[in-house]
Amino acid sequence: MNIQVQLCGIAVVILLLILSLNRKTIWLRSKRAFLVALISTLTALVFDTLSIIAIVSSGDNFTSFTNTICKIYLVSLVWMAYTMNYYTSVDIGVKNRIIRIHRISARILIITVSIIILLSPVKIHYTDRYDLYTYGPAVMITYVSAFIYVVSNVTILFAFRNKINHRRWIAALSWMLLLVIAAAIQFFHNNLLIIGFASSLGSLIVFIRLENPESFIERETGCFNELAFNRYLEQCYNRGERISMLVVQFATPHYLYERYSTDSINDFLKNFSKILDDCSMGQVFKYREWSYIVIFSQSVSLYSAKDKISKTLDRDWIIDDTLANFELKYTEIPNSFIAKDSDAMIEMIRAFARDYSNSSETELILDKVWAENYKKEQEIEDLIIQAIKNDRIEVYYQPIYSTAKKRFVSAEALVRILDKNGNLIPPNEFIPVAEDTGLILQLGQIVFEKACHFMMKEKLYKKGIDYLEINLSVVQCMRSDLADNYTKIIRKIGIDPKMITLEITESFAISSTENLVVNMEKLKHIGVQFALDDFGTGFSNLDYLLELPIKVVKFDSKMTQAYFESSKRRAVMGSVINMIKAADLEIVAEGVEEKHQLDELSLIDIDFIQGYYFSKPVPSKEFIKLIDNQKL
Ligand code: C2E
Ligand code: MG
Ligand code: MG
Repeated sequence: MNIQVQLCGIAVVILLLILSLNRKTIWLRSKRAFLVALISTLTALVFDTLSIIAIVSSGDNFTSFTNTICKIYLVSLVWMAYTMNYYTSVDIGVKNRIIRIHRISARILIITVSIIILLSPVKIHYTDRYDLYTYGPAVMITYVSAFIYVVSNVTILFAFRNKINHRRWIAALSWMLLLVIAAAIQFFHNNLLIIGFASSLGSLIVFIRLENPESFIERETGCFNELAFNRYLEQCYNRGERISMLVVQFATPHYLYERYSTDSINDFLKNFSKILDDCSMGQVFKYREWSYIVIFSQSVSLYSAKDKISKTLDRDWIIDDTLANFELKYTEIPNSFIAKDSDAMIEMIRAFARDYSNSSETELILDKVWAENYKKEQEIEDLIIQAIKNDRIEVYYQPIYSTAKKRFVSAEALVRILDKNGNLIPPNEFIPVAEDTGLILQLGQIVFEKACHFMMKEKLYKKGIDYLEINLSVVQCMRSDLADNYTKIIRKIGIDPKMITLEITESFAISSTENLVVNMEKLKHIGVQFALDDFGTGFSNLDYLLELPIKVVKFDSKMTQAYFESSKRRAVMGSVINMIKAADLEIVAEGVEEKHQLDELSLIDIDFIQGYYFSKPVPSKEFIKLIDNQKL
């Protein structure tokens, strides 16, 4: 029975070797390590079989040849444990000191143990071909050293759990378990020679879960897929290799899939992939549906590789006997070191593609400058998330002065973030990122809630503050649920909606105004009022003043300052003011810093003044002190 078991094991391993080698493959370190482990398992199985044949054929009279075959079998068993051990740790980069030490000691151990086993005596127990096994010092050493490898393997698996690919972790553990169970059975039932077979089954598990080359190949195009790209990139980073990359992307894929059938597109992409592969000078991967990434080693010049690729791909492409008309977009990534690891690089590639998805440029570069900007934005995003989580969102208030009543009648609520060291971050640094990432939805709502609470708690209306102005971002305005959300908050806090003025900006002009108008109408219906902020900076489209239900127009600081710069500007502004007044709207001039500015603006039709002359935006307590002192 022993021979049959070994032969089954040999058949399994040979099959795995054939399946691993007859398919196009990317040479990942894990792949090499797996093949080496397969070969050592095969060697152990072959020598196990040979040793059985040698023992049976020599009868009771064991020759030194039989002894040597048995010893080689024992050595190959330890090598099997050693190669599996190496395979487990292959994901962890050589940069890790513990792994470096571990690998060196494992190598020293395997060489020493191999020599000792070859020099130590081996004893053979043989009654008939069903009851034979080896024992003695060489066998003991084999068991002990294999045990050491298994223990170190399990230690690595648990100690570096986060660094080892999860699937490899499970597969290696199963492999190890099978081997340990088989070794235990063989230890107590010496005549059951099943270790080699158990290892072949273990390698089958690893193959199915991880090392099947098919899983790296996209069926339609025969090109390496995204999984292969991820693994290959991970390996480059683990080994500290500097690489460059080129993303080749179909700029107008809709043109293709609207015009041709899926089959025709697949045929075309297969052809395209092959041509790209042939001319690439690097490793080509299909990345996402309509793009490819080529990875070049440091020795290849990205510039000339790209030149060659673009010249080769710039040709007449025929699909379904017609000339296909499409454009390709190239993104050069000159240096992989702009990201700290493969995950960060992949994230950057995605973010870059998102940033430029609407760009008509066909030659782009993802370089250090872009990467640094991106990292900064990531940090800011993180800062906002942490601030929201840890309640470090502060609302400051800047008083607004009425030129008619000669006192503060309202205030603008302005958001600030405290970082974890207690430093105050001004909105200009984080609002754009919050808008890009959608975090402004949460942030805006927090400011709104805080401002409403503040107004209620401090009974600001008793201190002469008729309403608070609260900024609304374009992103918030576009949400169909904005009005309902804000209405709920207003009702929950119990504040009179008339005490709220929401500031919107003209930048909504670049987006659709559909939801904005519905939101405004709903909120206006319950009594909330609206101001048009940043007037004079962007489009200054007067149509909006008439179309939207606005009560107040806010002149931006720059516009206010301009009034004092030249008589020409003053004249233009005079007529703008007349128009706004004709539309029965009120005006706030922001950015008033000096007394003479206040005096002059009070003489013309400016209703309210907001500026450093009165006060910078201040924390709520200071704001209360400020308005407590004013005469009503
Ligand atoms: P904004 O809404 O136009 O707010 C007025 C800005 O002008 C404030 O800057 C204020 O400190 C500044 N300012 C007021 N008077 C003067 C002055 O006399 N001189 C100068 N040089 N500046 C003056 P801040 O607080 O840094 O806010 C900047 C922008 O950030 C705001 O401009 C607004 O667009 C945005 N923002 C602030 N808080 C929020 C918020 O809660 N939500 C949203 N979506 N945006 C906000
Ligand atoms: Mg504002
Ligand atoms: Mg403003």
